[in-house]
Amino acid sequence: MENKNKIFALVDCNSFYASCERIFRPDLRDKPIAILSNNDGCIVAMTKEAKELGVTRGEPYFKIPADTRKKLTVFSSNYSMYGDISHRVMDILAEFSPESEIYSIDESFLDLTGMNIDLTEYGKEIRKKVKWSTGIPVSVGIGKTKTLAKLANHIAKKREKFNGVVDLSSDENIDKYLAMVKVSSIWGVGRKLSAKLERKNIITAKDLKYTSDGWIQRNLGGVTGMRTVWELRGISCIPLDTIPALNKGIVSSRSFGKSVETLSGLKEAVSSYISIGAKKLRKQKTAASALTVYIKTNRFKDEPQYNNSITYKTPYPTSSTIELTEYALNLLERIYKDGYKYKKAGIMLDGIVPNTAIQYSLFTPDKFNADVDIALDTVNKKWGRNALFTASSGINRKWSMRREFVSPRYTTNWNEILKIRI
Ligand SMILES: [Mg+2]
Repeated sequence: MENKNKIFALVDCNSFYASCERIFRPDLRDKPIAILSNNDGCIVAMTKEAKELGVTRGEPYFKIPADTRKKLTVFSSNYSMYGDISHRVMDILAEFSPESEIYSIDESFLDLTGMNIDLTEYGKEIRKKVKWSTGIPVSVGIGKTKTLAKLANHIAKKREKFNGVVDLSSDENIDKYLAMVKVSSIWGVGRKLSAKLERKNIITAKDLKYTSDGWIQRNLGGVTGMRTVWELRGISCIPLDTIPALNKGIVSSRSFGKSVETLSGLKEAVSSYISIGAKKLRKQKTAASALTVYIKTNRFKDEPQYNNSITYKTPYPTSSTIELTEYALNLLERIYKDGYKYKKAGIMLDGIVPNTAIQYSLFTPDKFNADVDIALDTVNKKWGRNALFTASSGINRKWSMRREFVSPRYTTNWNEILKIRI
């Protein structure tokens, strides 16, 4: 598992949802923006200007004081637009590396191993190209491990003097940077763990890097803790393409060993990714408000190329395997085209909210699906993971939702395309 000569970049979009809205509202550059959850309940994302006004993630909209609201521009979450723009950003990022891993709706790891180039310059080029082609600002962190690339990205975002690119891969003085980052901001270190570390006076990433293996093994739960510490030391333990869970968004995808040429083959793959993703949602007691399905052919083969993705906003947040499978298979049918050799398929769950924050409506999942999920989790725990298939049954149910502040679907609906007066 040890591999000392790797180089990874993590590219992360800055305030992604708000940046998407700004593409079509250039007048809101440098202005405070907040994005609201389904039914306009809570703040799910915001710009740094909004943060400075005291707006916080998860805060109910109605609780924001009136004078703050006056200064704030709010949007209902427009997941189909965010999904579409995410897909464009990811496509551009894929051009910069032979291997990439879409990590969440707005983050991608790139493998830059063995490239004999100035990596900081390369990072700047990535930023420029993404900004120019999509309008989205990104930050780039580079390191010898994924954990260090994440950490570099964190610094690039927090400190303006780096202009959005931090390369720790060749820096002799890397400890100086590790000392800038609190343990709670390290990839894979949760709130509970960071509290434990802080009690032991391990405050920064640098402190953790130099903590003894013995102590880590005894206190941080074996392999996972060790892996993080080794990664901080520059030893790559987490390869590209693993399937991580985050509360920000869940991605499940895989490159096929052999290309897949049939709809039924892709359905099988997508169904199994959904069962993995839905199970993760339930495990962390959350539900998703949007679902993206994507398929692509192999860019590096001289074959006909096709590459598409589609995002669906669910009528209510759900973690039901049955419901999500049904949506996903329908989405897949919409973008699938015959005659191509598919190399990769994936799903992305977004707009993830804690179960406790779900505002139940008329369309709350019925008890049957909840019972099925409990049975699924119990059976799967006992007998191992298996894929579930449901019959497809139309997702064009136009359930209306309250979305007062929604921006037009500029990029996915011709009737709402941006008009420019010349
Ligand atoms: Mg981001």
